[in-house]
Amino acid sequence: MNQSIPEQPADVVSRLRATFRSGRTKPVAWRTDQLRRLREMLTSHGEDLAAALREDLGKSSTEAFRTEIDFTVREIDHTLEHLDGWLLPESAPVPAHLGADATAWTQYDPLGVVLVIAPWNYPLQLLLTPMLGALAAGNAVVAKPSELAPATSAALARLLPRHLDTDAVAVVEGGVPETTALLAERFDQIFYTGNGTVGRIVMRAAAEHLTPVALELGGKSPAFVDRDADLGTVADRLARGKFLNAGQTCVAPDYILTDPETARALEAELTRATEALFGTEPRTSAEYGRIVNQRHFDRLAALLGSGRTVVGGDSDRETKYIAPTVLADVDPKSPVMQEEIFGPILPIVTVADLDEAIGFINDRDKPLALYVFTDSDTTRRRIAAETSSGGLGFGLPLAHLTVSDLPFGGVGESGMGSYHGRWSIETFSHRKAVLEKPLG
Ligand code: NAD
Repeated sequence: MNQSIPEQPADVVSRLRATFRSGRTKPVAWRTDQLRRLREMLTSHGEDLAAALREDLGKSSTEAFRTEIDFTVREIDHTLEHLDGWLLPESAPVPAHLGADATAWTQYDPLGVVLVIAPWNYPLQLLLTPMLGALAAGNAVVAKPSELAPATSAALARLLPRHLDTDAVAVVEGGVPETTALLAERFDQIFYTGNGTVGRIVMRAAAEHLTPVALELGGKSPAFVDRDADLGTVADRLARGKFLNAGQTCVAPDYILTDPETARALEAELTRATEALFGTEPRTSAEYGRIVNQRHFDRLAALLGSGRTVVGGDSDRETKYIAPTVLADVDPKSPVMQEEIFGPILPIVTVADLDEAIGFINDRDKPLALYVFTDSDTTRRRIAAETSSGGLGFGLPLAHLTVSDLPFGGVGESGMGSYHGRWSIETFSHRKAVLEKPLG
């Protein structure tokens, strides 16, 4: 391959397809070898990658390792440990009319050439975790990092080809024109993480080739706080979950739903919890991140007036800093409640009781995550039964996605398809039905 002239999308795909057809990606030994090489890349270049994440998002090294690099390493280790078991054929009972000697089973077949398109907010984790799942399932992969995290994109484009099989894994950098050109090609699966507007573009392009898609989208993830909850603990956990990566987390609690009395008590606790995390001057805290670019900064700055400021509220355009902010007395019709916030602003919206909270959630798009803080079994059971969301967290935001054996994905407007652990094998494989009836 000539390094100076970028390969055209059609050539990338046909090169990878030739590798897939050759059968090279199918043996489990090849798959686990790729995963081990990816692990080696992450552990030997961890500092370089953390530096790129700091450059793109002001992520602290601790956060970069915890939420991106080590997160992906753990997913690799889990996959290496269980892959053989996940790939076992599963037998199916055979009806009597086929005779006692007939047998039937399902087997996992890789799909072929998979396109993974990643966003900027966890630009490493959200490219590599789907990619390692696709490789574990025996596919070739075209990886498209986000142009809005350019340092991480460049680091991955440099490192991945040095570590992985370049005939089966290609990195294509770029923005809209490059992604549009890729989407014109025929893939066997497209795995997209990002916003719903582009999700629709991806799905339309995929329809041309009848290519299956997994869409990992976002939306407003509510946090319901019951009046019986221990508000100190609730505030600590909400502040941690919300202000991680300066609120630019797809499963961050978007807003709080609670009754007026609990809201008042929670205001003081959230102020305390935020100061405990970042001090009274968060802009000087090494642990607090920055907004990805000016466009998102301006969008977020315009939302700061959507309620009464409880804590935070200040911002600095030059350094793309927005303070961790809690807003109270927020009207559901205010700008901050119209779309996913995706930044460090936490509005408190009041409802009379659980019934009204359930109604509020069900009147809106199905969220990617729903969080509930309560001591009541009845409340937990009712929320689980009466609402629909990609994931449901009782007592702790964000953590469900660290459980590799839980499927991570959305429903309705928050997406379709899921991954992590064995769910990645389900997404990136075809379950082939096989029947065998002996001759004679
Ligand atoms: P983004 O702008 O980086 O876009 C994501 C990808 O889409 C990029 O690779 C980009 O190049 C590509 N893209 C952008 N415009 C395109 C176009 N017109 N045609 C083709 N491709 C295009 O990221 P974003 O969308 O701003 O990400 C934020 C959103 O992603 C939020 O809504 C968030 O909730 C969601 N998200 C979801 C998850 C999840 O796992 N469900 C994770 C992270 C983010």
